[in-house]
Amino acid sequence: MAPRIDHIETDQILPKRADVVIIGGGIVGVCTALFLAEKGVSVALCEKGHIAGEQSSRNWGWCRKMGRDVAEIPLAIESLRFWEQMNSRVEAETGFRTGGVVYLCETQDDIDQHAAWLEHARPYQLDSQLLTPDGVDKLLPGSTRKWKGALYTPSDGRAEPQKAAPAIAAAARRKGAVILTGCAVRGIETAAGKVSGAVTERGTIACDTVVVAGGAWSRLFLGNMDLPFPQLKTLGSVMRTKPLAGLPEQAVGASDFAFRKRLDGGYTVAQRGANIAPIVPDSFRLFFDFLPALRKQWHELRLRVNGRFIEEWKIPKRWSLDQATPFETVRVLDPAPADSILEEARVNLSRNFPAFKNMEIAESWGGLVDVMPDAVPVISHVPGVPGLVIASGMSGHGFGLGPGTGRLAADLVTGDVPIADPTPFRYERFLRGGKAGKAA
Ligand SMILES: Cc1cc2nc3c(=O)[nH]c(=O)nc-3n(C[C@H](O)[C@H](O)[C@H](O)COP(=O)(O)OP(=O)(O)OC[C@H]3O[C@@H](n4cnc5c(N)ncnc54)[C@H](O)[C@@H]3O)c2cc1C
Repeated sequence: MAPRIDHIETDQILPKRADVVIIGGGIVGVCTALFLAEKGVSVALCEKGHIAGEQSSRNWGWCRKMGRDVAEIPLAIESLRFWEQMNSRVEAETGFRTGGVVYLCETQDDIDQHAAWLEHARPYQLDSQLLTPDGVDKLLPGSTRKWKGALYTPSDGRAEPQKAAPAIAAAARRKGAVILTGCAVRGIETAAGKVSGAVTERGTIACDTVVVAGGAWSRLFLGNMDLPFPQLKTLGSVMRTKPLAGLPEQAVGASDFAFRKRLDGGYTVAQRGANIAPIVPDSFRLFFDFLPALRKQWHELRLRVNGRFIEEWKIPKRWSLDQATPFETVRVLDPAPADSILEEARVNLSRNFPAFKNMEIAESWGGLVDVMPDAVPVISHVPGVPGLVIASGMSGHGFGLGPGTGRLAADLVTGDVPIADPTPFRYERFLRGGKAGKAA
């Protein structure tokens, strides 16, 4: 079920020491490694499975400033700047192209919502704009439907999830980072109240700083350190087509389908606004944290009781560092896609863009998306634990934000002037008192 990813071999030798150990080889971890290596910091990245094995290879590949939480816009602007020069920076193909992103509007309410966002985003002088129905026809001539309008950002783009993180990891290695795959981090050691090492399944790496970029696993990892991290997962289902001609360059989303052109001439296609939210034990533990989000977005979620309840219930929440951990039991989260949702996407898309009618599906896959209650990431030091930085909780849009997030995490580690204001991403917003707070 997993998409085919450019493979990155592991380094064989576990270093005895590094300035920084990064946990997780997704887009956030590899970007953090790249920027730290460029700053001359010695860094070891540990990935339990393989580079980009989880969300970072399974996403749609959209890289956008448009529609972001206003708090994220500066980070999104920096991320797009990095994406634009990423191929030359890493001397490899990440698939990034500035093709534009379009949100199609079916109702006046859609238009009003986008107009309100444009108003909030005005201080950032983005090139985002509302298109008239005729403007949409001109931009997307392949659609048979008369749309009410669209929100369009020409400077947004797309990259290839199966290529980008591996290419960035390889560049980080060339710049001095050690990249270890099949190497789970079990926990963190401290001395004199500060981080002093990362305990991996292959031994301990002494270090001054650990960056937790563990994607959907960050809650479990931090929970073993008594650090609350209110994170849930939803299931997204995706398919890719064989090459198709005469369709848009832009990434396009409507209420019930989404597509974007791939480097190989095919399209990545999904149903928009139809993620499955499996009911798991954490759904009850975090119910009140997520209630406001649930009220706002219930129409986009399909709540399901399925096998994940038992799977997650069985996962140990506590372990000692001298025993195998859940990170070694599950090397790669590889859920099956929901075929019924993909079929809905196919039908909706073909109805609106008939050129998709004869599309041949080359691959389909599922991906568990990690989400925070406010859908904003944590990129932050941890109060009371000097040397610990979290860069996680990317909430369904961390691929596009990956480069800015990695750079901001690297800036926090080195104490350099941050690339963007870190205030909206502080971990403290989830704390309710105590060293690292309670609950959540
Ligand atoms: C279907 C789908 C569509 C999406 N579409 C988009 C999109 O179009 N645009 C966008 O911007 N975002 C999108 N996203 C979200 C985006 O993919 C994620 O936000 C982003 O990839 C998260 O990156 P990450 O590095 O935080 O996590 P991940 O990519 O999940 O990487 C975390 C890594 O940490 C490793 N790890 C965890 N714990 C340990 C440990 N203890 N030791 C060692 N390794 C560990 C895991 O194995 C994993 O490889 C989508 C996601 C999905 C699933």
